Amino acid sequence: MTTNALLDFSGLPRFDAIAPSDVQPAIDRLLADGRTLIERLTADAVPATWDAFAAPLGDGIENLSRAWGIVGHLHSVNDVPEWREAYNGMLPEVSRFYAELGQNLKLFAKYKALRESPEYATLSPARRKIVDNEVRDFHLSGAELPEDRKPRFQAIQEELASLAAKFSENLLDATNAFAELVTDETELAGLPDDVREAARHAAEKDGALTNTRGWKFTLHMPSYLPVMQYAESRRLRAALYRAHATRAAEFGPAELDNTPLIRRLLELRREEAQLLGYANFAEVSLVPKMAESVPQVLAFLRDLAVKARPFAEKDIAELRDFARTELGIATLEPWDVGYVSEKLLQARYAFSEQEVKQYFTEPKVLAGLFHVVETLFGVRIAPDTAPVWHEDVRFYRIETPAGELIGQFYLDLYARETKRGGAWMDEAITRRRTAGGIQTPVAYLNCNFPRPVGEKDGKPRPATFTHDDVTTLFHEAGHGLHHLLTRVEELGVSGIHGVEWDAVELPSQFMENYCWEWDVLQEMTGHVDTGAPLPRALYDKMLAAKNFQSGMQTVRQLEFSLFDLLLHADFDPAGERSVLDLLADVRREVAVLVPPEWHRFPNSFSHIFGGGYAAGYFSYKWAEVLSADCYAAFEEAGNPFDPATGRRFLDEILAAGGARPALENFRAFRGREPQVDALLRHSGMIGA
Ligand SMILES: [Zn+2]
Repeated sequence: MTTNALLDFSGLPRFDAIAPSDVQPAIDRLLADGRTLIERLTADAVPATWDAFAAPLGDGIENLSRAWGIVGHLHSVNDVPEWREAYNGMLPEVSRFYAELGQNLKLFAKYKALRESPEYATLSPARRKIVDNEVRDFHLSGAELPEDRKPRFQAIQEELASLAAKFSENLLDATNAFAELVTDETELAGLPDDVREAARHAAEKDGALTNTRGWKFTLHMPSYLPVMQYAESRRLRAALYRAHATRAAEFGPAELDNTPLIRRLLELRREEAQLLGYANFAEVSLVPKMAESVPQVLAFLRDLAVKARPFAEKDIAELRDFARTELGIATLEPWDVGYVSEKLLQARYAFSEQEVKQYFTEPKVLAGLFHVVETLFGVRIAPDTAPVWHEDVRFYRIETPAGELIGQFYLDLYARETKRGGAWMDEAITRRRTAGGIQTPVAYLNCNFPRPVGEKDGKPRPATFTHDDVTTLFHEAGHGLHHLLTRVEELGVSGIHGVEWDAVELPSQFMENYCWEWDVLQEMTGHVDTGAPLPRALYDKMLAAKNFQSGMQTVRQLEFSLFDLLLHADFDPAGERSVLDLLADVRREVAVLVPPEWHRFPNSFSHIFGGGYAAGYFSYKWAEVLSADCYAAFEEAGNPFDPATGRRFLDEILAAGGARPALENFRAFRGREPQVDALLRHSGMIGA
């Protein structure tokens, strides 16, 4: 018997008993147990079989991830000093443990031996997938390289990491280096009061130094975006645009110029790919993704570009026309686009968020969400009880119509000072088969919505949500369903485990579609005062605003995606043609808005040079296409709740989880390859 509640794995997390002081002793012990186990399992005497090696390894490490998951969760939803300290205190130790696991060549040798053994063919598909994933990840981290190549591979990894960090630092320093001080108040025309106030405050903070009064604008988003969107002063917009577009480039201080870093990053990625036996880095990037090959992704992006382009041209023509006739702007410059778009949106498609919000009351929205899930997937959702971390938190169970437990979830809807921002789904317990039977899954759904305020007729007035909030809730519920409705019995590929990075957003984005179904909205809305459902005229405006400039936005995303992929595929960083030449080619192919010649977009493209999106930027569009195409199967059946289609989505996608490649899941559901048409239609790009 233990008195440390964090070490009690017999059921749901004991949020009523777990204390910050439990963290260090519990995690220390689980880390030590994990190391002992790995030591034992990698011994030569242990046969490389599922039962003797892979199964005990998975079982043994599960408790650490469960306990550490609880600590991470509490740190996110109750970020008080005691929990922050408990979490941060153990974070380096836990990170080190997982890093060692990924570098342990003895583990790799066992997995490889298992894959090459006769037993492999007799394993279930889920078990084979776990072994395949392990071998793949070790391979990509250089474990299979000949000994004499490993130091070079390691050196490349280290240089890549420091270059990426430097790229981001340069960009931040260059962003910080710029300030535009406005002293003429007439230049503030059009700017919202809070933006003026912030600019005034920023200037005053510097005032002691410069002895100048005025308003200070910067390239940070809260200052830059409102200027581009609202400022009537074309001079101010142009000045900020130019500064923003030329950050970390050759026009500024040489030590902040990202141009040489870009070239070096591309060279090293190419070298890394070739060491691993691939032609280029784009191929490496695709290995653990759903997309199968570079030509496949290129064809996908180009197909979408050809189809979206006429709509993008229509959008830009509408914008130019509006600028000329309504605003007297004869030539639309890049620094006019945000400003004119905002004016056009207000003139033609505006509606009041506040008005919409009155229709989405919390009880209606939750009942609407649960009804959608129950109808689609043939399950029941009922209130349940469990220890929780805050009185706001609710707990539910999902069960079969016969009352058999499928999974459970916590719902923590409201914003709190001690809660991390945004919305997210996380796993508490993952479904799998244990010696005692099936362990049912448990999920956390977290949002940051406003809590109920005030009273009406002596009763508390329910919380009301914006349509964006509702969409977010459906999105996170989609992630939750992926985790909870899995039927996989092996930890490593159960629920969202082992699901490819570019396929993880499929169920979440799929669920968002229901927030735009007229019939669903009729059920899910009721005015907070009158109870009336959402009026049709308001709905039509919401839809028009959703699709505003979708053509332009689509080709812009495609420009970034194509540039990123081509840069990491055939492009030779040491060759004749520059990165900017390649970008110009891509723009000629897909863009409708070509920035000025001095624009240095690559120098601030931190997704691919400072972050983890290299040769992966396409994933955003890829996931949107997949989810739209899945939803189209319901539209083709003539019913967003078509039972046979719902059953198939459950069986082939949600229940299958990571046990089968995501593209196979998709094909099994749709009976064909993904197509882009549904996304175009849902974005209002119809009738090409
Ligand atoms: Zn998501």
